[in-house]
Amino acid sequence: MCGIVGYVGHQDAPSIIVEGLRRLEYRGYDSAGVAVLGSDGRTELRRAVGKLKNLDSLLKERPLSGRIGLGHTRWATHGRPSEENAHPHHVDGITVIHNGIIENYLELRRSLQAAGRHFSSETDTEIMAHLVATKLAAGAKDLTEAVRGSLAEVRGAYAFVILSEQEPGTLVTAKSASPIVLGYGEGESFIASDIPACLEHTRNFVFLEDGQMATVRAGSCDVTDLEGHPIDVTPTHVDWSPVMAEKGGHKHFMHKEIYEQPTAVADTIRGRVSMDDATVHLDGVGSGWST
Ligand code: GLU
Repeated sequence: MCGIVGYVGHQDAPSIIVEGLRRLEYRGYDSAGVAVLGSDGRTELRRAVGKLKNLDSLLKERPLSGRIGLGHTRWATHGRPSEENAHPHHVDGITVIHNGIIENYLELRRSLQAAGRHFSSETDTEIMAHLVATKLAAGAKDLTEAVRGSLAEVRGAYAFVILSEQEPGTLVTAKSASPIVLGYGEGESFIASDIPACLEHTRNFVFLEDGQMATVRAGSCDVTDLEGHPIDVTPTHVDWSPVMAEKGGHKHFMHKEIYEQPTAVADTIRGRVSMDDATVHLDGVGSGWST
């Protein structure tokens, strides 16, 4: 249950992304990061352990600039909280953020290593960056096709957002079990794990369903199933103010907290269940509760 924000449009991507992550802080996290594709065609990353203010300081020291990028607040399941394990992960021009668990990650990691790929983190997520890079190197026609081919090999709960230096105006996102919303702006588009992240910028949203993916550009989102068949979607207009959205339709926050307990527990567990090793990965949960 951590935060995802993607942006492509005409505004300054890093500030929109970090502000969006701030609106998702209620979801809990141990580290945060942002990646932006600059006008020179190169991706730059900033990642920091701990609260968003650490990422803020890093961005003040070494600012980023660009019109497309993605950001993430991580709650570790595979690999300790550290800068190397924080998202985004970047491999051969491909940048990935991910919520959830890749269940068959050991098997995929071994076969990618056997094919000569080197890993720079302990995460399951980095596998997706290598898979997409491998598909592109093997001739996938574009990022969407490379992501689709990679998803066919991945089992688990996920929400992904992926950016490629070869397609500087495109983000590809996909969802299974972890939430993704697409926000439709004027000549700009947003991807997030929840609507408060971009409610300041747009009121028109599509909630992706499991087994759907989308190719997102400034002002357009093409939704398909995992075989590539187009899906017609109609954005829902959300009237809530940002404060109402954070209260989720409840009168006040205490009311919300009480009534959302079952959903909160289900959402927390959902992305952490591994059917492969019959384990629920609850790293980090105990520390808050044991004191
Ligand atoms: N499994 C991934 C990791 O440990 C993502 C965790 C999350 O959902 O934040 O990096």
